[in-house]
Amino acid sequence: MAGGFIRLVLAFAGGIALFCGAPAHAQKGVAGTPLRVCVLRDTGGMDPATLIRQPARFDCATAQHRFGPGNYWVISQDIHQRSRSRAPLNVRLASLWQQSLTLHVLYADGKIVSQTTDARGLTPLIQLGAIAEQPLPRSQANVVRLLWHVEGAANLRGILLGARLSTAKESEHANLAMAALYAGFAGLAIALIIYNLALWGALRHRFQLYYCLMVGLLLAYTFSSSGALAWAWPDIANNSRLRINFLLLGGTGTAALVFARSFFEERVFAGWLGRYATGVGLAMAGVGLFYFLTAPFAIKAVDLAFTCSFVALSAAVLPLLWRAWRLRSNYLWLFAFAWGAPILTAALRALANLHLLPWSFWIDNSTILAMMVEAIVSSLAVAYRIKLLRAERDDAIEREVMTRRLADTDPLTGLLNRRAFLHQAIGRAGEQLLLIIDLDHFKRVNETLGHDGGDEVLRVFARMLRTSVPQGTLVARIGGEEFAILTPADRPIEPESVLARLRQMRMPFDIKVTASIGTCQGTLASEVDWKALYRIADTALFDAKSAGRDRVRHAMRAAA
Ligand code: GH3
Ligand code: MG
Ligand code: MG
Repeated sequence: MAGGFIRLVLAFAGGIALFCGAPAHAQKGVAGTPLRVCVLRDTGGMDPATLIRQPARFDCATAQHRFGPGNYWVISQDIHQRSRSRAPLNVRLASLWQQSLTLHVLYADGKIVSQTTDARGLTPLIQLGAIAEQPLPRSQANVVRLLWHVEGAANLRGILLGARLSTAKESEHANLAMAALYAGFAGLAIALIIYNLALWGALRHRFQLYYCLMVGLLLAYTFSSSGALAWAWPDIANNSRLRINFLLLGGTGTAALVFARSFFEERVFAGWLGRYATGVGLAMAGVGLFYFLTAPFAIKAVDLAFTCSFVALSAAVLPLLWRAWRLRSNYLWLFAFAWGAPILTAALRALANLHLLPWSFWIDNSTILAMMVEAIVSSLAVAYRIKLLRAERDDAIEREVMTRRLADTDPLTGLLNRRAFLHQAIGRAGEQLLLIIDLDHFKRVNETLGHDGGDEVLRVFARMLRTSVPQGTLVARIGGEEFAILTPADRPIEPESVLARLRQMRMPFDIKVTASIGTCQGTLASEVDWKALYRIADTALFDAKSAGRDRVRHAMRAAA
């Protein structure tokens, strides 16, 4: 048992290794060439025209997040490229919390051009992937270097991150690639919501609703954090968009926990783990809401609390898996497969926020990538679920068919019983021929062979009837040793041939068994018709018996 658990943990660890490896080379997926930047604290009264010519004053060694919040100057490495009319250059940055951003561009001819963001901050510059992109003003002269003035930087992850220089073509390509990524995710998420709701209609598992809530929140978070919100709502301040991100991500984390709790059997979350999960869930939603309402108040502490709540969420996974393993939960493997990636990326993001991993665009967007994996595994799980449902349905149908067949069948002979015969006979279209067959002197047969022997005679006779009539003929045992055959009048059965075959049949102890038959023809639209037809056929049968048995008598309907 412990060995299996270790395998499970190793599978998780393998996933972590895979994901940690991914961002390093996947960084190439972000457009353009990276720009090295150096930082200088703004101590006031500093002139950009002077600063941009003095790169040596800037600190290139210290990690940006160590400087703390405030106003900063950030300078780029030397560029020496032209921003041409035909092929303009763009500078791309990660969107971070800041009051305003001014970009100064120094050209080789000594000219400096400046651009400042307005009250909306980076919003007008936001591209898909929450990348702020600014075109560098075109000029005949080369761009020497860039200087940014960042005011009101919260500096949680850094002051100015992900700086890159890209051509218009690279930017376009990046937007397209990000649009494909987000659209793919949105499509998966919407499909997941729809078919989980549809399935909920049939299965009524509460976790399906929590799952839809979580996917819905994640979809909203993706809409905001991807920057699509800035396109849809250009007047929103970029910092407000960042606040919305926290609100939605916190809500998503809580919904994920609530989902996990209702997904597993109750016993898995019993005791301290349940209380712990409640605490973590409340913390994630609570801190997210607090950030949303109060940022940038104590932003660094609130951000740290938010990160800690995600660390706490990731930390719950190991005891959760252990418990599910020990209690032999049915859902362990499904959960481990589907949720390995999202939990992992939650942990990775937390590590990056704590500066234990370097900032990366892909870690920032990893939740969405991981949820795509989860969505695909979930879809397979839903498909499996539907397969089980189908098997259940087929079983039920088969059982019902069996039950009905049992209810319709005479247990001794396997022929239709009287009830089923009437049910199928009444309402048949067109003229019908009815044969009532009664075995002769059956009391004597019983006396000779015993009751069991008599039963065997009934079985043998029934088998003969069943195998000698054409398709569409009803054959029933309607009384003790009384049988009925109903065929369309235009495809009649020859009663004489029934008697002839019976005479030749080998019966137990080679006794001879004969029968008498009364027939009548008519329509069978209603029960009244049946009663009339049966009475006439029965009278004919009585005539056959009176006339010495082992013979047929036909009666006409008009005779009634
Ligand atoms: P008849 O030629 O006038 O029809 O004479 P009969 O003896 O066949 O007529 P009767 O209706 O008086 O007797 C029918 C007998 O069939 C009576 C009963 O014991 C026997 N019987 C009815 N159902 C079964 C059964 O399921 N198994 C056996 N072994 N005998 C049965
Ligand atoms: Mg009889
Ligand atoms: Mg009888």
